[in-house]
Amino acid sequence: MYFNESCIFAEFPLNPLDELRAKEDELESLKDSADAQFILYHEGNPLMRRGNFETPLYVSRSDCEGDLVFLGKDGKHAYFAGKTSIPVPPKDGEFVDMRSIARNATANGFSKTPSLLARGKMILDWHNRHQFCANCGNESHSMKGGYARHCSNCDTEHFPRVDPVVIMMVQMGDKCLLGRGAHFLPGMYSALAGFMEPGETIEEAVRREVFEEAGIRVGDVSYIKSQPWPFPSSLMIGVVCEALDDDIRIDPNEIEDAKWFDKNEIENVLAQGGDDNFRVPDKLAIARHLLEHWLNSPKK
Ligand SMILES: [Zn+2]
Repeated sequence: MYFNESCIFAEFPLNPLDELRAKEDELESLKDSADAQFILYHEGNPLMRRGNFETPLYVSRSDCEGDLVFLGKDGKHAYFAGKTSIPVPPKDGEFVDMRSIARNATANGFSKTPSLLARGKMILDWHNRHQFCANCGNESHSMKGGYARHCSNCDTEHFPRVDPVVIMMVQMGDKCLLGRGAHFLPGMYSALAGFMEPGETIEEAVRREVFEEAGIRVGDVSYIKSQPWPFPSSLMIGVVCEALDDDIRIDPNEIEDAKWFDKNEIENVLAQGGDDNFRVPDKLAIARHLLEHWLNSPKK
């Protein structure tokens, strides 16, 4: 059922209009036009209408400090992301963390709002953490609508980073492998995951991570779907893969436990909702989508 369904933080709702980013004059006049909408962030949390986790409370350009990020346009409006250092929201608004916004959207089915808000958060975060040129150390400045920074000292351009993470349902016959980290909720088991390393293919990263964390060798790897994850700026690459053996040897520095679960156990925990003995992630996480995909795939 989740095979074609997008994960939360997917489906960016605007036309990003890449060609406008280099046209500084046009962007400037857009910012001053009546059609501009400004989404304001305080420490990565967007300003929303009070009591409403689905609708931003748009502000005016003068409420934003520093450089703006051009997010794109829909039919009528142009959207920009800006930040403020003032923690006190206007009377009819509140700064809401992105997880609460995503959880609210998940509880109501699906929404493209988390994707819009996450992109602004991720790019503003990147600017905050990359004020200085990594090549020569001089101060760099925002350009191309916020999608790049330029160092005028050494003429280097820097681009927003995305950190790819592989997340995998390891399967063998009628069983799947789930693990738990030390910081998980009691009873929570989820798909194994890890950051990709430079020079790896997705398949190589999957095989390395599963072997490092659980001591299991993996053969075939099949891509299923992906999820942007704005904490701070990852892309979760979801796959299913085939275990070549089932003898678990965990690395306790990486995970606290890993177990094989059969389809009955997974069906039961989904039907009952889970408890402190055994639970799985909810639909906010791509891990749940992968689990449901595995559960509904034909037996091998
Ligand atoms: Zn430089």
